[in-house]
Amino acid sequence: MTPQKFGYMNDVDRLIEQTSVSQVLAHYGKPLPEKDSGEHRMDCVFNEDCADSQYGNLTVKLNDVINRIYCHTCKVRGNLLTLLHGLETHRPPTGGRLRGEEFKTAVAKLREIAGQPSENPSPVSSAPVIAESFHPTPQARPSASASSSATSSAAAKLTNTPLHRHEKEAARALANLHEELIVDVSEMSPEAAQYVRSRSWMTPELMKKWGV
Ligand SMILES: [Zn+2]
Repeated sequence: MTPQKFGYMNDVDRLIEQTSVSQVLAHYGKPLPEKDSGEHRMDCVFNEDCADSQYGNLTVKLNDVINRIYCHTCKVRGNLLTLLHGLETHRPPTGGRLRGEEFKTAVAKLREIAGQPSENPSPVSSAPVIAESFHPTPQARPSASASSSATSSAAAKLTNTPLHRHEKEAARALANLHEELIVDVSEMSPEAAQYVRSRSWMTPELMKKWGV
């Protein structure tokens, strides 16, 4: 392991420790824990079927950074990154543990949610990828122009609120993400389609907004 890589992992550990469960849940429009400690229960984010089981709850330990989550039905366990992966993809980590690309994607997403810009070029930085793969549609163009550094830094100076900055970063990510999103129910996996159909309020617009 190179020193640089080691620094990256330290960074990630700190990020996981410093980002609250509430920040992540709020980002995905989920109900927030009513307390600061103990356990929070929510629907399993990894398997739709878990909701049908009598044990179908995901336990989120609010004080335990390492063993943060555990599903009593599908037995998926992990930390905040694993939770985020589930919220994002509605699947357990491939092979049971978050690693490789899934890990990096989750870290990048957590950085966004935490409002933490990646300072130096790191393996997580997805900026060059955005520039290469982004083909703006008329709909996405406003987000794209908002992400040009001149515009966003000027806007940040004007308003200078963390929330505003957070929204900008989320918008920037959406500019990249929306291409990969499947919002047409007919293109989804049966499980995902069932999930969406069972939630009539889940419109394509909302799904795009939340990055479902
Ligand atoms: Zn589960």
